[in-house]
Amino acid sequence: MTSEVVILAIEDEPQLVRFLRASLAGHAIHLIDAPSGATGLIEASTRVPDLILLDLGLPDMDGVEVCRRLREWTKIPIIILSARGQERDKIEALDAGADDYLTKPFGIGELLARIRVALRHAQRGPGTDQPVVVAGAIKVDLGARRVSRGDEEIHLTPNEFKLLAELAKNADRVVTQRQLLKAVWGPGLVEHTHYLRVYMANLRHKLESEPARPRHLMTEAGVGYRFKTV
Ligand code: CA
Repeated sequence: MTSEVVILAIEDEPQLVRFLRASLAGHAIHLIDAPSGATGLIEASTRVPDLILLDLGLPDMDGVEVCRRLREWTKIPIIILSARGQERDKIEALDAGADDYLTKPFGIGELLARIRVALRHAQRGPGTDQPVVVAGAIKVDLGARRVSRGDEEIHLTPNEFKLLAELAKNADRVVTQRQLLKAVWGPGLVEHTHYLRVYMANLRHKLESEPARPRHLMTEAGVGYRFKTV
């Protein structure tokens, strides 16, 4: 990571902020923090950080609302910090445009991995997706609409391809059930989560060497799926 990375933590737990500052400093990341939603929104617009860590349980404002307000004007990557029991809010925040999430307590390794992925996606920008996404032996060629495993070309149905493509475009980031259903089947069917279970099982059988123990097509319980490339 370059030395100029500035991260804003909108988080009201001083202990967690201290932990973040100490651990990120060792990775050339400068942390600024805001203890409430209102101050967070001001810091975000005046300091324009490279990334925002957003706590969902803030004293003055719902974290989901903070996320919505940020997304009215900025595409700065947002990683949600949520406690257990905030599943609903977490999903709402992701659907409102947050990039990823971490459930407390989390390790520094996990946090850094999420930060790298989010920054990588942000730098690439819209319309400049990598045409070919590789995950182990799986190769997804989004331009040519071809999928292979090792030397073998894999035949996918149109909807299986659409689902895999949506995950591959967001490689290593969580994609919510709603986002996937909307992308593949359209906005009218976003409640039909059983479609996803069936199609993900199909994709795993076609692409994973051990479908019951997937290494790339991962389930994020209750939230969505993640196409892991690393
Ligand atoms: Ca909190």
